[in-house]
Amino acid sequence: MTKPKIVILGAGYGGLITSKSLEKLLKSGEADVTLINKHDYHYLTTQLHKTGVGTAADRQIALSIPELINSNKTQFLKASVSSVDIKSQVVHLEGGDTINYDYLLIALGFEVETFGIPGIKENALEIRSFRSSKAIYHHIINQFNLYKEDHDPSRLTFVVAGGGFTGIEMLGELADGLPKLCKEHDIPFEKIRIVAIEAAPSVIPFFPKQSIQYTMDVLEKRNIELITGTKILECTPEKVVLEKNIEVPTRSLIWSCGVKGNTIVHQWGLPIVKGKIAVDSYLRVKSMNNVFSIGDCSLFLKDEKNALAPTAQVALQQAPLCAKNIVSTIRGESLKAFEYHHKGSVASIGLMAAVGKVGNFRLSGLFGAFMKQVIEARYLFNLGGPSLIIKQHVGVSREQIKVTVKQ
Ligand code: FAD
Ligand code: NAD
Repeated sequence: MTKPKIVILGAGYGGLITSKSLEKLLKSGEADVTLINKHDYHYLTTQLHKTGVGTAADRQIALSIPELINSNKTQFLKASVSSVDIKSQVVHLEGGDTINYDYLLIALGFEVETFGIPGIKENALEIRSFRSSKAIYHHIINQFNLYKEDHDPSRLTFVVAGGGFTGIEMLGELADGLPKLCKEHDIPFEKIRIVAIEAAPSVIPFFPKQSIQYTMDVLEKRNIELITGTKILECTPEKVVLEKNIEVPTRSLIWSCGVKGNTIVHQWGLPIVKGKIAVDSYLRVKSMNNVFSIGDCSLFLKDEKNALAPTAQVALQQAPLCAKNIVSTIRGESLKAFEYHHKGSVASIGLMAAVGKVGNFRLSGLFGAFMKQVIEARYLFNLGGPSLIIKQHVGVSREQIKVTVKQ
C-alpha cells in the first residue's frame, strides 16, 4: 500500500512547528512529509526589526531549516509555491515542478497591508520577511553614503508609519542601532531624525492608558518625534504626505500599518473570507477534509464574528493541534477542536525597554524587556532544545546571508 503524502506549504511558525510535531506523532513509515518553503531558512518574524537596523547577526534571525528538522522524517524542499489545484491534489511550484498530496497544510503567512495608499507599494520599506528587512538595513547604509555626497537632510530622516507593535519595535530598534551605525559610517548622529506617525490619537491605541503613556514617554526620551492622530496619505521617493497639510521630507518610510493574509491563496478555489482562508474548528479549510490552514493566512473565528489576531502566538498554538488532527484524519480517529488561550503580549522598545500585558498584569521597563527575551528563548527551546539557545546566543555564525535586495 502506498503511504499517504502530507505536504506543508510554508516554514514559518505555523508550518515548521507542524512538521516538527508530525515528526513526533507519526509512526515509522506511516506517512511521507514534505515541507516546502521559499528559502532554506526559517526567519524569526518576531525579531525582523533587528535585521532592519543590523542589531542582530543574520543567523540569529534566519535559522537553517535543514538543521532544524529530522531529514529522516521530513523532506525539505526549497521552492516557491505558485498555485494549488485542489481538485487534482497537486501543488505547482515556480519553475514548473509539481508535488502531489493526500493531505495539505497551507501556512503561507502574511503580506503587508497598504490600503491602496498612493506610493506605498513603490516607495516604502516593509518589515515582512528576512529579505525585506535586510533591504531596510542596506537602504539605511545607502542613504548614509548618499548624504556624504549631497548633504540632503531628508536622507537622515527615518519615518516609521504605524504605532502598533511592529511600529514601536522598529522605532526602539532604530533608536538603539542608529548611533552605532552612524559611528561606523562617519555620520553625525545629531543630524538623525526618527519620526513616528500614527493615525490614532496615540501609539498602541488598543492597550491600557498607563502602557500607552509609558511607551510615549520612552519614545520621547529617545528623541523620537511623535505625530499622532494623523493619517499618511501618500509617499513619494522624497517625502511623506500626511493629513493636515503636513509633509515630512524623507527617503526612508518604513511601513508598519498592519498586515493581511497572503493573497497568493485567493486564486485556488478556497473559501476566502476577509482575505483569508476560512477554517473550521478543527483547522480544516471549510468543507474540505484533507486540506488544513493555520497562522496568518487563515481565518479562525473564536466566536461568530471575531477572528483571532495574526500573531505568532496563535500560529504556535494551532500547529501542534493541526499535526494531531492530520494524523487523526489518516488514522480515521476523531479530531479535536482548536481552543485558543491568550498568554499575553509583550513588545520591545529597543533592548532595554518593553511594554506588555499578561492577564491583568501590565509589564514595562527592564522587566518587560527581560520577559520578551524569555519568550523568544522559549521558542528556540521548543524548536531545538537548550543547545539551540546556546548556539543562537554564543555560537552563532557572523557570516552574512546573501539575499537579493528586493522588496
Ligand atoms: P509566517 O511566519 O509569515 O511564515 C510564512 C512562511 O511561508 C515564510 O517562511 C515564507 O517565506 C513562506 N512563504 C510565503 N509565500 C510562499 C510561497 N509562495 N512559497 C513558499 N513559501 C512561501 N506575533 C507574536 O505573537 N509575538 C510577537 O512578538 C510578534 N512580533 C512581530 C514582530 C514583527 C516585526 C512582525 C512583522 C510580526 C510580529 N508578530 C508577532 C506576528 C507574527 O510574526 C506572525 O503572526 C507570524 O509570523 C505568523 O506565522 P505564520 O506561520 O502564519 O506565517
Ligand atoms: P497593527 O494593525 O497592530 O497596527 C497598525 C497601526 O498603524 C495602527 O495603530 C493603525 O492605527 C496605524 N495606521 C494604519 N493606517 C495608517 C495610516 N495611513 N497612517 C498612519 N497610521 C496608520 O499592525 P502591526 O503593528 O503591523 O501588527 C501586525 C500583527 O502582528 C498584529 O496582530 C500584532 O499584534 C502582531 N505583532 C505582535 C508583536 C508582539 O506581540 N510583540 C509585535 C509586532 C506585531
